[in-house]
Amino acid sequence: MMSKQTRQVSQEQIAHQWDCINQIQHLLSVRADAPHFYCQTFGCQQNEADTERIAGMLREMGYEPTDDPKNANVIVVNTCAVREHAEKRVLGIMGQYTHLKEENDDLTICMCGCMVQQEHMAEKIKKSYPRVDIVFGTHALWRFPELLLRRLSGSKRIFDISGDDRGEISEGLPVLRGQGCHAWLSIMYGCNNFCTYCIVPYVRGRERSRKPEDIEREFRELIAEGYKDITLLGQNVNSYGKDLGLGVDFADLLARLDKVPGEYRIRFMTSHPKDASDKLFETMANGTHISHQLHLPFQSGSDEILKRMNRHYDAAHYRSLIQSAREKMPDLVLSSDIIVGFPGETEEDFQKTLEMVRFGQYDILYTFLYSKRSGTPAAEMPDSATKEEKQDRFDRLLAEQETINAARQEAYQDRIVRVLIDGTSNSKQPTDHPLTGRTDGGLLVMCRGDGLKLGEFADVRIERTSLRALYGVEVGNG
Ligand code: SF4
Repeated sequence: MMSKQTRQVSQEQIAHQWDCINQIQHLLSVRADAPHFYCQTFGCQQNEADTERIAGMLREMGYEPTDDPKNANVIVVNTCAVREHAEKRVLGIMGQYTHLKEENDDLTICMCGCMVQQEHMAEKIKKSYPRVDIVFGTHALWRFPELLLRRLSGSKRIFDISGDDRGEISEGLPVLRGQGCHAWLSIMYGCNNFCTYCIVPYVRGRERSRKPEDIEREFRELIAEGYKDITLLGQNVNSYGKDLGLGVDFADLLARLDKVPGEYRIRFMTSHPKDASDKLFETMANGTHISHQLHLPFQSGSDEILKRMNRHYDAAHYRSLIQSAREKMPDLVLSSDIIVGFPGETEEDFQKTLEMVRFGQYDILYTFLYSKRSGTPAAEMPDSATKEEKQDRFDRLLAEQETINAARQEAYQDRIVRVLIDGTSNSKQPTDHPLTGRTDGGLLVMCRGDGLKLGEFADVRIERTSLRALYGVEVGNG
């Protein structure tokens, strides 16, 4: 029984989308050549997972994927709104794609995702990019087949950013995932946290969780298809299940999936400190397949700034979470996000952020200079620090973290780690470590060894380290 606020798209509605897919298939079947689609994704892992759903629908219609937009008959650009810069990049690219129509009138151009979910942006596309055929928002993604069929059947340009903030869960539409051994698996959508600098809650709506049985079904399919490293996705996975009214939380879901037999790893992102718990850390520590990797953004070490960010925790609570996680998992690989230069941040506030970085001893730190986002409360906050002051703090933070990062990497010297071999080095220089892999904690390992195989786990002894990667040799081969 789903709680009243989380709605599931009905089977009839999903069946209608499949019907549209079949009608497009029929439309395309008369073509002499196979039509192609090209998808481009901006932004986060959630957007990448959404693009895999769009690609799945296009492939079912009969389109083949292409890496070259010039060969495409359908182009879909999945947009991001997290920073103004991202939007400028998207608009730049759209300029190029719409020119392709001059040479190819058998081309349908679509835009979707967080940027166009914003009314002012959809209006901008409507006015300034007349060659864009279809614009659909984050809530309308599951209706893509219906929208494309209408356009291919001659309707005028389509703008669908409807759907209220509550959002919906749609199950049963095809997905086309990338090659390789890594897979994204969305477990929930939306966010209820309204951090004052963030646009996500306004473009992705309220938190809504997929049913555990639907997630487990898809998880088992991924394992059966040979995926070895599955990342559970949500803007705030730690609040999974709150809207389901089933008394199931994220730790319960993790424990349920962990029971599925096989050799694989489960990862998850993103966690919010206000919902992280000892129960979660215990489940991770006692799991068979759950990686000892935790991405726990703290954003600022200053309680005053955390309050203004509306983050719902203070520095003391955050420290206790790290302590608890490390006690239960001494081999934990910890990463975080930090925003430098939030409106009103003083040198004293920044010093507290540096203290937290020293306390946290992070393996990986994603650092951002505050970027004003119109439509967010923080955009209206007084901001006295100069660009130079903020940049100076940012540089000092990077220097601090570089020292910590080097020491954390060096601690792996001569250790044997379990690595999932997942690719080949893209180094332009000749390299004696031709393969790439990931540790349980998600760290990059450049590997060598005749017995190493793509998509398989192997024990690797670390023979040298750098800030960016560990370098290792197959155990028993060096
Ligand atoms: S938790 Fe905060 S930063 Fe993350 S998506 Fe939600 S509002 Fe944005």
